[in-house]
Amino acid sequence: MSQTKKKRTSRKCYEKSDLFDGLPDDLVISILSKLASSASSPPDFINILLTCKRLNNLAVHPLVLSKVCSKVFAVKARNWCDSVHRLLKQCVKAGNVEACYTLGMFRFYCLENRGGGVSLMAKAAIKSHAPALYSLAIIQFNGSGGSKNEKDLRAGVALCARAAFLGHVDALRELGHCLQDGYGVRQHVIEGRRLLVQANARELASSLNTLVQRKTQQQHHRRLNYQYYNLKMGSSCPLSDFGCNVPAPEVHPVNSFLKEWFESEVGELAQGLRLCSHEGCGRPETRAHEFRRCSVCGTVNYCSRGCQALDWKLRHKVECAPIERWLEEGGNDIRVRGEMEEVVESDELVI
Ligand SMILES: [Zn+2]
Ligand SMILES: [Zn+2]
Repeated sequence: MSQTKKKRTSRKCYEKSDLFDGLPDDLVISILSKLASSASSPPDFINILLTCKRLNNLAVHPLVLSKVCSKVFAVKARNWCDSVHRLLKQCVKAGNVEACYTLGMFRFYCLENRGGGVSLMAKAAIKSHAPALYSLAIIQFNGSGGSKNEKDLRAGVALCARAAFLGHVDALRELGHCLQDGYGVRQHVIEGRRLLVQANARELASSLNTLVQRKTQQQHHRRLNYQYYNLKMGSSCPLSDFGCNVPAPEVHPVNSFLKEWFESEVGELAQGLRLCSHEGCGRPETRAHEFRRCSVCGTVNYCSRGCQALDWKLRHKVECAPIERWLEEGGNDIRVRGEMEEVVESDELVI
């Protein structure tokens, strides 16, 4: 009896493996490409590599690697290892723009390989990768990786404009501020204001989309999601420009990685350098006093106007208070809240 059972089981296994082996490589590669482009976390793709020898070989086919999405690269900073680095390099070789951007940011900010980082980001930017264009713009605005004199505001504005045209909300916001202030471009207050309103409208639309998606998930997994939803709503923006209660925009995996890298023990930030104060950014200074600070309290600093404006709405608005020194100098001189000022060497003691 048991022998018959054994025979049946082994026959089933044989038939199953036969079916899979019978599938042509092209079809498996096509399925793997779909999986790689729609994965929601690193294990979704990495588990494929671990399943069997055939899948391991086919999953590293250039066609599949070129489709791997950003969520696969969303590893925790503490899990960073040679094999992740190797996978990223293989994806770059296969022409994956998301991998170019991720590895570019990592090399530029974490490994301090500025030239290598910028050239990888440029590779992605040429293929119209909006976050890469925006990141290059921030590098130009700040003269990151070089001295203060290496800032190229006009190049920053041009890169920002390209990213904004592709629908990047932070770039749109940045461009609006540049036009409003005449920073790197001829001042045009009305046009700047128009872009800022447009950025807020897009931000609201994407926030509402996220809310709708979360509500749908709730219906499917009501009990499980209840706590998650409350948790997320805790980090919502209480006073957006529209007076609505909207959640904070989704953070790109690269930004989460940078933040974790420098805040945990994994990465090291040189003495005197600081991270951008916006929670969803994670960019570090590449030289002392590179970032601008809040002109009212002087306790927070930002890599860009976009980060400053967003953090103001999400968090800093309720925390910002004039520092004592400026109160003593006379409250009338205090500028409008939410402005930024450039840090000069002589300000060192204030911070
Ligand atoms: Zn920032
Ligand atoms: Zn402040």
